[in-house]
Amino acid sequence: MSLNIHSSELPENERSLHEFWMKEAIAEAHKAESLGEVPIGAVIVRNGEIIGRGYNLRETTLDSTAHAEMVAIRQASIALNSWRLLDCQLYVTLEPCPMCAGAMVQSRLPLTVYGTTDPKAGCAGTLMNLLEEPRFNHRTEIIQGVLQEECAELLTSFFRQLRRKPPKS
Ligand SMILES: [Zn+2]
Repeated sequence: MSLNIHSSELPENERSLHEFWMKEAIAEAHKAESLGEVPIGAVIVRNGEIIGRGYNLRETTLDSTAHAEMVAIRQASIALNSWRLLDCQLYVTLEPCPMCAGAMVQSRLPLTVYGTTDPKAGCAGTLMNLLEEPRFNHRTEIIQGVLQEECAELLTSFFRQLRRKPPKS
């Protein structure tokens, strides 16, 4: 049974709480954008407090693993002094890729909330669902579609601008 929940199915008060944290993830995505990085942002929340933040730094660091979620997971693990992210919720603007979904399962994260789906790499239900794979020893619940339009618009406007730039001579 899939637990993949769309935010529209949630009661208003729960939805607005998730939107509150998603706005923080969107703020992180803007930091990536200001560096010319694809705007994707993430935060990790525990007991109503952000313990990890991250934004995509792949170009800046020349590191294919420097996705927003990975950066936030590393920061949260330092904050908790543990690789287990128990009682934490991860918010990310874009559906996680296989690497990040794998890291979420590995860190025993109970819940991932994402904004918009990724038809090219999404592994939280779009191409596959690594977060709720019953054969793994841990499953991460999913809530999707939180501030979906804002999260998608970040990416579409970024790529629109990229196409507008004249080619370098
Ligand atoms: Zn990723």
